Amino acid sequence: MDNRITEIVIVGGGTAGWMSAAALARVIGTTSCAITLVESEEIGTIGVGEATIPPIALFNKLLGIDEDEFVRETQGTFKLGIEFVDWKRLGERYLHSFGLFGVDMNGISFTHYWLRAMKQGAAGDRDLFNAEAEAAHLGKFARTPPNAPPSLPRVNYAFQFDASLYAAYLRRYAEARGVVRTEGRIVSVRRDPESGLIASVELAGGNRIGGQFFIDCSGFRGLLIEETFAAGYDDWSRWLPCNRAFAMPTSNVGRLAPYTRATAHEAGWQWRIPLQHRTGNGYVFSDGFVAEDEARQQLIGRVEGEPLAEPRLLKFVAGRRKSSWVGNCLAIGLAGGFLEPLESTSIHLVQAALAKLLAFFPQRHMDQALIARFNSEMNGLYDGIRDFLIAHYKLTEREDTAFWRYCKAMEIPDSLRARLELFRSRGEVMPGGQELFREVNWFSILHGQGLVPEDYHPVADALSAEELASRLSQIRAGVKARVDTMPSHDDYIAYCCASPRAAR
Ligand SMILES: Cc1cc2nc3c(=O)[nH]c(=O)nc-3n(C[C@H](O)[C@H](O)[C@H](O)COP(=O)(O)OP(=O)(O)OC[C@H]3O[C@@H](n4cnc5c(N)ncnc54)[C@H](O)[C@@H]3O)c2cc1C
Repeated sequence: MDNRITEIVIVGGGTAGWMSAAALARVIGTTSCAITLVESEEIGTIGVGEATIPPIALFNKLLGIDEDEFVRETQGTFKLGIEFVDWKRLGERYLHSFGLFGVDMNGISFTHYWLRAMKQGAAGDRDLFNAEAEAAHLGKFARTPPNAPPSLPRVNYAFQFDASLYAAYLRRYAEARGVVRTEGRIVSVRRDPESGLIASVELAGGNRIGGQFFIDCSGFRGLLIEETFAAGYDDWSRWLPCNRAFAMPTSNVGRLAPYTRATAHEAGWQWRIPLQHRTGNGYVFSDGFVAEDEARQQLIGRVEGEPLAEPRLLKFVAGRRKSSWVGNCLAIGLAGGFLEPLESTSIHLVQAALAKLLAFFPQRHMDQALIARFNSEMNGLYDGIRDFLIAHYKLTEREDTAFWRYCKAMEIPDSLRARLELFRSRGEVMPGGQELFREVNWFSILHGQGLVPEDYHPVADALSAEELASRLSQIRAGVKARVDTMPSHDDYIAYCCASPRAAR
């Protein structure tokens, strides 16, 4: 028997479904393997998910898409980081920039040298040593020119885009490469009585779609992974209590910020994501601490532009499937788990699952060792992001509402507690190889939230005080020179990738 997979069925046509279809069409192709995507317009998609992080550039590269065209088609803007307002305490803000701080020296991170200079009262603000952060503060943006010398540090950026346009863009891409879309609502799932694997899904009206491998992108419900395979869900709401969001688009006001803003409020936080044609807003909150209607009114009262639609309520539970791959079904996107959009990680988790799927691509017999390895790597990735998000809440100094008092006092996972202790003692984090967030990201958040290390890495003392001062001023001059040459974010978009439909 031929052991190769020749029929893949993707259930769901949201961002996860179409990202899966596009990546598989590009890499596996549709010549020797039929790829069918089933979606139901009647059920619809979640339609939010507008902010991304820099690794998305790798996904674009895999697809071979033109970045300017992609930004234009999705009404996109560029993103240099996330600004956190009122998280540490009311009236304070800091930026989690995508850029690096300074230059690593003698095998240790620049942040240790900066901490040393800080202790001696000789360091400027940390963002002066981070080109992306400074550009974000000034509303500037430019990508590294293609002809730049290799010695010039790259500009690290991501995108903010319209989620529905993104799915539509990927749909065009995937259909042009042979993916077949089927419209219809799946009403039942048939399993092979011997192997227990899924054999087909049946649509209302009786149409049956068979395959050897099924990708569950059906959203929160997990039509295949949970309703068919009962994979189970690890509920993390004791650490991440937000379980609702109201999303509402508004007209743009002022210039396009090259960053996403997350503002902490009484029982959660509000996002602001500037796109070319509108601004995405939403209030992520816990209904244990504020009533839905009150949260809705608060969002309406706090947005800057003219509302373009009524607030839309979305419900979720933070956590992930115990196993996202069971039998011949792999759950990707919301079907696999949900972590609130505080660090814009959901689309990245889709991308990461797809990269792993391609690396672990199965044969029909579904190797259990392969599946176990996949699940362990995916779970590790989720767990690392979970800890990173919890740290934003745990390290607050706010005690002005019951929600923040809960977050400040809550128990945290042992893995996070150990990490905070290490950082507190000498400014180190030591992320594992599979973790998404690296030393620089943790530094941004932990230090931004007010956790100042008691000491720094001993190697940072190897430079003389004069040498340290001279290097800091050189690095600062380099950052300034890079940012000085950048145009405003608005001008950059107008120059290379303005959407003709953006009413600005
Ligand atoms: C409030 C909020 C804000 C977010 N913000 C961000 C962000 O800024 N950045 C980010 O990276 N991510 C964000 N996300 C996450 C992001 O929206 C999702 O990861 C992304 O949209 C993927 O969704 P999905 O495709 O898994 O599910 P969905 O969009 O829900 O799609 C599910 C699909 O399954 C289909 N389907 C379901 N049942 C059936 C059936 N029985 N028969 C046929 N078809 C069916 C539906 O029709 C639909 O096509 C956010 C999420 C929320 C809730």
